[in-house]
Amino acid sequence: MSSPVLQAMRPDALAARREEIRDVVPLGSTDRLADLVGEALARCDGEAPADWERRPLAVELEFERRRVEGGQPVPAVTGQARVALPLVCERCLGLMDLALQADIAFLLPDEDMSYEALPGYEVWPVEGRGVRLLDLVEEELLLALPLALMHEDRSRCRPVTEHFGAAGAGEESETQRPFGALRALMREEEEQDE
Ligand SMILES: [Zn+2]
Repeated sequence: MSSPVLQAMRPDALAARREEIRDVVPLGSTDRLADLVGEALARCDGEAPADWERRPLAVELEFERRRVEGGQPVPAVTGQARVALPLVCERCLGLMDLALQADIAFLLPDEDMSYEALPGYEVWPVEGRGVRLLDLVEEELLLALPLALMHEDRSRCRPVTEHFGAAGAGEESETQRPFGALRALMREEEEQDE
């Protein structure tokens, strides 16, 4: 039994039925997300979680027809996707889990449909065989990635000395460290190490 989000589907039919799709696919069956994780883990020697490809990507989608005033109804999809990606922290180069969630809102016009922009919706033109929902989902999850991939809780970072040495340590932006006392403590530790 193949997952609905992995197949090309006709959104006009789904919208006419106001279809709801809940699906869970393994991270290993994605394209761009699996590439991203594979590349990240290749940089992180030996500690990659063996079963990351089986991690669940959960998707909930609802289809309906949306009509801009005076316009033709256009299939639309809204929903959410969630996944926890194993990635590499840019601060300590250690493994981190990134809980990623994305809201999805697309108009899905067919080639022959005229449509107007609808606030809050992106447009994903539908070609011949239909749309593969995983493509929409991956697009939005990738856009939801934070600019800097780092452990949110700095105390989970591995000690940096072996990677950055004395040159890089201590020169990072001070705004990243809101806790003065902790900062002072780290200074002390750095000084002791030197
Ligand atoms: Zn880290």
